[in-house]
Amino acid sequence: MVDMNPATQSISGPAVCPMTGEQFAAVLVNWQAQHGRQSLPWQHTGDAYKVWLSEVMLQQTQVATVLTYYDKFLRVCPTVRDLACAAEQDVMQLWAGLGYYSRARNLHACAQQVVERFGGAFPRDVADLESLPGIGRSTAGAIASLAYGVQAPILDGNVKRVFCRYYGVEGYPEQSAVKKQLWLIAETNVPQINPGQYNQALMDLGATRCTPRNPDCRQCPLSDSCVALRKGMVGQLPTPKPRKVRPMLYFVSLVVQDEAGATLLDYQTEKGVWQGLWTPPCVACDEEHQPAALLPELEQILSRWGLSDARQEVLEQLQCLQGQPWLVHELTHRKMHFKVLALKRPGLHTAFHQISEKPVPRIVHKLLEQAGRSDESTQGSVAQQNTLDF
Ligand code: SF4
Repeated sequence: MVDMNPATQSISGPAVCPMTGEQFAAVLVNWQAQHGRQSLPWQHTGDAYKVWLSEVMLQQTQVATVLTYYDKFLRVCPTVRDLACAAEQDVMQLWAGLGYYSRARNLHACAQQVVERFGGAFPRDVADLESLPGIGRSTAGAIASLAYGVQAPILDGNVKRVFCRYYGVEGYPEQSAVKKQLWLIAETNVPQINPGQYNQALMDLGATRCTPRNPDCRQCPLSDSCVALRKGMVGQLPTPKPRKVRPMLYFVSLVVQDEAGATLLDYQTEKGVWQGLWTPPCVACDEEHQPAALLPELEQILSRWGLSDARQEVLEQLQCLQGQPWLVHELTHRKMHFKVLALKRPGLHTAFHQISEKPVPRIVHKLLEQAGRSDESTQGSVAQQNTLDF
């Protein structure tokens, strides 16, 4: 994809060499002092309770929204002891509207453990912080560095994006090897002096310059040595989550119709994409669909619907289907393939329905269309292409 954003278009010139961890930290701390966010209410307090509360609220929520909730929360629960003593329903009420309610439950449980296990003061040690409910490694690093000045790294979503772009790290950041690489960068770069301001700088840079869309590279203090900018890869990094490989499913469908076009439909009760819908009977198979392997199940279906006399016809059609293309039905999470056995039976049967009268999945229309083609084909018409993408 061509990068059309003038602020992120690649810079030609010699290959870039990223700064050392020390230089990187110094540049960011300097930038934060001049251009970073300075007046957020949880900054410069040295209060681990406030830092923790803001970190948990910010995990899935924008700063502007958090500000309102943060004030309200602190008015009702000004200390971690107040929060620990509050009724869970009151905590949930304070959180109502912020979403991801497991955060509120963890918040309450965490406050209780801070009181019970640590005498009401958040521990300084990262491992102790990580042992508390709802506190992961990055949140622990943020609390330790911002509240206590501990040299602890952070790696939230903003920081991952900055590292991936600045160092040109490819691969989905949640993959363990990539994540390990990013944590290594985070550990290497966090300075002994001013680790809190450095971590704040990383968060500020990710939130205000190195944003997910339209990053402002021209105003970024890292632009001179940013690998992604130099290589024209800003739009491609971080690497998006890989799409899962969709399972390939194969079926032989038995389309039985009477002279009025009514079709034998089976109600689907099993859990799955077709639950609660009506379809012609289908037999799952593999790509080879050997007639000998499928016949027993098809015989059961024929017997169930009083159609055992069709056994020979079904066997012959099965043999004809070998080597013919599949009818393809693509869904988001799976790719389904069908071959159709078409039977005509005179007279109405209680299991025969007009498809307009029943809820049927979209594929059923295609199966019926295919059955019509098969019918023509057996009457000497030219065989038609039956692979359809829709
Ligand atoms: S680190 Fe700076 S220069 Fe590099 S992509 Fe992000 S905003 Fe642009």
